[in-house]
Amino acid sequence: MIRLAIQKSGRLSEDSLNLIRECGISFVSSTYKLKTEATNFPLEILFLRDDDIPGYVQDGVADLGIVGQNVLVEAGFPALEVETLGFSKCRLSLAVLRNETYNSVADLQGKNIATSYPEILGRYLAGEGVQAHLHTISGSVEIAPSIGLADAICDIVSSGSTLLGNGLREVQTVFRSEAVLIANQQLSAEKQELLAQLQFRMQAVRRARRNKYILLNAPVASLDAVKALLPGIKSPTVTPLAEEGWVSVQSVVNEDDFWHITGQLKAVGAEGILVLPIEKMIS
Ligand code: ATP
Ligand code: ZN
Repeated sequence: MIRLAIQKSGRLSEDSLNLIRECGISFVSSTYKLKTEATNFPLEILFLRDDDIPGYVQDGVADLGIVGQNVLVEAGFPALEVETLGFSKCRLSLAVLRNETYNSVADLQGKNIATSYPEILGRYLAGEGVQAHLHTISGSVEIAPSIGLADAICDIVSSGSTLLGNGLREVQTVFRSEAVLIANQQLSAEKQELLAQLQFRMQAVRRARRNKYILLNAPVASLDAVKALLPGIKSPTVTPLAEEGWVSVQSVVNEDDFWHITGQLKAVGAEGILVLPIEKMIS
């Protein structure tokens, strides 16, 4: 049995639960329960505040956890990270009042900066050779400048609308974060084996999410051009169609290249292009 801690309710919760389910692990979760056991994998899930997860994993109260890198690094345990998970991407940025002049981070020398991330910000400023006064506050950091508590803030930014609403302007990215799987560093051999199985499944899920299965028909004369556009995992599967001079081609394309490639496929004569999601992709 291995014990995984995830955020009870917040921005990480739904994606964490979805990832576990997509790994083929079934469990019953209810909003009031703080732990649950999977029915088809030796896994126990704990639902905790995200800020507590790195410490619990470090101490071995939980074997594994899913948490943002921002929280992990701030807690001082970056070495626990074993796998990036690709969701909850966000950045930690410095922001100043909208009409404040700002040319570089050196302008923050001697200033007051409010943040919930004194560790990460302190290390960043030290690296830039800037000395500032950091005021640690745990929430509503964005209002600090407008009420005269600080000259600048350092906080998580996603859309920037919260900053705008508080008369602030983002001036510098300090740290980029995404959700990661973390693990205690003294796992038993049995737990290490379960972790390896989980990582294998998580990687297969992530790879599948990033790729699409593509099927199309092409005239034999364009086959070389089509193949050049679709390298596939090994090489595309090509089968003849009942109609003379045509083939069906099947392959896998990366989501990032998808629109670009389908446009080019049409241009070289491909027809009837079908694109399907992939459920799991094992390398
Ligand atoms: P808790 O009450 O559990 O302490 P919280 O308020 O600290 O929750 P959330 O706002 O739920 O945390 O965010 C959890 C994590 O999600 C953050 O630590 C960060 O890694 C990530 N995150 C925060 N804001 C965003 C965003 N706008 N977009 C994507 N990910 C984000
Ligand atoms: Zn939190």
